[in-house]
Amino acid sequence: MPTALITGITGQDGLYLAELLLGKGYEVHGIVRGQNNPKRDLVAEVVPEVTLHTGDLTDLSSLMRAMSATQPDEVYNLGAVSFVAYSWDNARVTTDVTGNGVLNMLEAVRLFCGSDPTRTRFYQASSSEMFGKVQEVPQRETTLLWPRSPYGVAKVFGHYMTINYRESYGMHASSGILFNHESPRRGPEFVTRKVSMAVARIALGLQDRIVMGNLDAQRDWGFAGDYVEGMWRMLQQPAGDDYVLATGETHSIRELLDIAFSHVGIEDWSDRVGQDPRFMRPAEVDQLIGDASKARDRLGWRPTVGFDELVHMMVDHDLSVLRAAR
Ligand code: GDP
Repeated sequence: MPTALITGITGQDGLYLAELLLGKGYEVHGIVRGQNNPKRDLVAEVVPEVTLHTGDLTDLSSLMRAMSATQPDEVYNLGAVSFVAYSWDNARVTTDVTGNGVLNMLEAVRLFCGSDPTRTRFYQASSSEMFGKVQEVPQRETTLLWPRSPYGVAKVFGHYMTINYRESYGMHASSGILFNHESPRRGPEFVTRKVSMAVARIALGLQDRIVMGNLDAQRDWGFAGDYVEGMWRMLQQPAGDDYVLATGETHSIRELLDIAFSHVGIEDWSDRVGQDPRFMRPAEVDQLIGDASKARDRLGWRPTVGFDELVHMMVDHDLSVLRAAR
């Protein structure tokens, strides 16, 4: 039975990945940070078969202990301070966790592997935010990186460190450059879930309006369940590499609002949506659209959920949660 160790197990991707790996017969372990972390209960509820270990990406010895306790065949580094807007207010913490945390995890894997550098395969959760002020449309593995936030800068550090550990030590280390990926498990601070939750509340008469930031930004949004399949496929290749996972379609925040509101029968949402500078960012990533042809050709990976279907799934989920609570 192969063994996997996941950082960021309590997040959206960690939960989907744990389900995927358990379904494939893996023994799955996760690293959880902090004293009395309330998200431990979520993991125990969704994937009770997972064994949790206490550790922190900023604490190398805790990662080394988790490696020797679990002896993993595969490590998925999904842990990060992941909210771009927050990364300006806490740039140093974001750098320590989202950037230096990758170096710590790579170092823990390298030391564990000893004389056999491919003993444990490593996946780094890199991000389309690394493209930032895009230098090419669509963005691919070779596109020049131009991050536009402390989060993006930290992810660039992790991406290049992963490549360097692969090239310097011969490790099986892959960097998945994932474009935005969403689901009913997405945190409420991200725009898709913020919209799906608000639209569900508005449809049920529990709320009148939603206050947003920049409505013109465009993102390439896919379904998180599809993207964790791509992560796993990367680690099944003979050697580590870098891959973009994306849908190849881009949509604006306005289109997101159109689809979500019209799903609950509201065609004109102009009086339902306000804007507030509080939700604007010091620098914006205007248009992300990915070219996942390398992942398609080499991994046989394809997204299966379209944008409309994704938004409907999220709104329907939030409607059913609210109805159940009534
Ligand atoms: P990101 O791509 O990782 O930053 O994902 P988000 O879901 O946080 O943001 C996606 C885009 O939505 C960004 O361009 C934001 O500026 C834009 N946006 C507009 N209004 C909002 C809002 O109220 N909340 C968030 N999170 N993003 C917003």
